[in-house]
Amino acid sequence: MQLDEIISEYQKIARFLNKRWPLKDENQRIFARTMKIVEELGELSDEILTSMNLQRNSKIANFSRKNLEDEFADVFGSLLLLAIELDIDIKEVVERKITYTRQRLEMNKEN
Ligand SMILES: [Mg+2]
Repeated sequence: MQLDEIISEYQKIARFLNKRWPLKDENQRIFARTMKIVEELGELSDEILTSMNLQRNSKIANFSRKNLEDEFADVFGSLLLLAIELDIDIKEVVERKITYTRQRLEMNKEN
């Protein structure tokens, strides 16, 4: 799946969420999307700690790589949902950041 398709799918999900759980205004939606990132990042952190045997034994016993990957996808998806709510052109800003990072790291001199 290409990034355009992923964004398109998340635009559909965003419309569904806003219809199913309508919030008062744009500020509330942005706040909710931001808090969702924090929640999902916590869940990803939990999985990473578990993968490093830094959680209680009952969690370690139930660890699976799939859960860690699912939580990564949740973080990624929640970031996309915030970008959609903020009307950010995801492809444009990511490409701009890659260009900036390559220049900052002076990668163009090596590649
Ligand atoms: Mg999650």
